[in-house]
Amino acid sequence: MHDVEGDTTFCASCSEPLIVRDWYELLDYRLGEDGACPKCSAKLAGWFDAKAGTFGRRRYRVAM
Ligand SMILES: [Zn+2]
Repeated sequence: MHDVEGDTTFCASCSEPLIVRDWYELLDYRLGEDGACPKCSAKLAGWFDAKAGTFGRRRYRVAM
């Protein structure tokens, strides 16, 4: 059993799911390169720390 919701990072401002993780696999990634929500443009606080700390596998999709 695993909990996709528990690994999902939501926008603090509009609650849009921004980073959906299922264990090590990144299912969806919606942040701009500046770490901002594409829906409301709020910056995701702490995102750059998270990127450095938890993205060892670097398997994220790049949305063009
Ligand atoms: Zn947002």
